[in-house]
Amino acid sequence: MLGIVVIALLLYGQSEKKYADTAALERLMEQKRLVGVQTVDPTIKVNLKYASVDNFLQRDLYGGLCHCYLTKEAAIKLANAQRLLRKKKPQFSLLVLDCARPGSVQRMMWERLKGTPEQKYVADPSIGSMHNYGCAVDLTIVDSLGAELDMGTPFDFLGEQAQPRLEKKFAQQGKLSRSQIENRKLLREIMIEAGFRSIGTEWWHFDAFSRKEVKQRFSIIDPP
Ligand SMILES: [Zn+2]
Repeated sequence: MLGIVVIALLLYGQSEKKYADTAALERLMEQKRLVGVQTVDPTIKVNLKYASVDNFLQRDLYGGLCHCYLTKEAAIKLANAQRLLRKKKPQFSLLVLDCARPGSVQRMMWERLKGTPEQKYVADPSIGSMHNYGCAVDLTIVDSLGAELDMGTPFDFLGEQAQPRLEKKFAQQGKLSRSQIENRKLLREIMIEAGFRSIGTEWWHFDAFSRKEVKQRFSIIDPP
C-alpha cells in the first residue's frame, strides 16, 4: 500500500515538474517562433499570474517563466496598443497578465474545473483556447506608480461582474462605478484600435485574430 502511495507521489511530482520546467517552456515557445513582447516593446509591463500562486487555481503553473510570448503579429499589435495608450495617457502602461499558454496547462485547468459550475470559464482543451496558439492576451492598465486601474473585479474573477456584456446592468445596479466602466472602456478602445477583438465574458481578454484565422495560420503550443 505504502509502495502505491510512494509511486503516486513520485508521478505527481514528475507532472508538477513538467508544468514548471521553465527552460523547456521557453524552448517550446521559441521552437514555435513566438516572441517575447518585451523584445518588441520593452515598456510593456509583464506579471504572468500563472507563474505565481496568485491565480484562481492558487498554483504556480509556469514555474519561473516570466516572459510574455505571443506570435510576432500579435506582439506587434500589442506594441501598437501600448503606443496608443501612451498617446492618450502618457503616465499609463499596459500590464500583461497572461499570453501564450501551453496545451498541457490548459488541460490541467480543465481537469481542475471539470464538473463544477466554474467549468464554463475555461476553454475545453480538445478545442483549445486562443492562448494555446499564442494569439490571445490577458491584460490591464497600470498608472505611473505601477498600481492597477480599478476595473471592477480582479483578473480571472469567476462571476458575471467581470463580463463586459453585462456592464450596463451592473452600472444601473450601482455594482460597477462610472470610473470602473471608463477604465474598461479605455482598455477596450486602445486594444480594438490596435487590431484586437474583445470578448463579452472577460474584461481582461483580447484575441489578436478570429478563431478561423488562428486555426489556419498557427498551431497549439504543446510539450512533446
Ligand atoms: Zn484570456
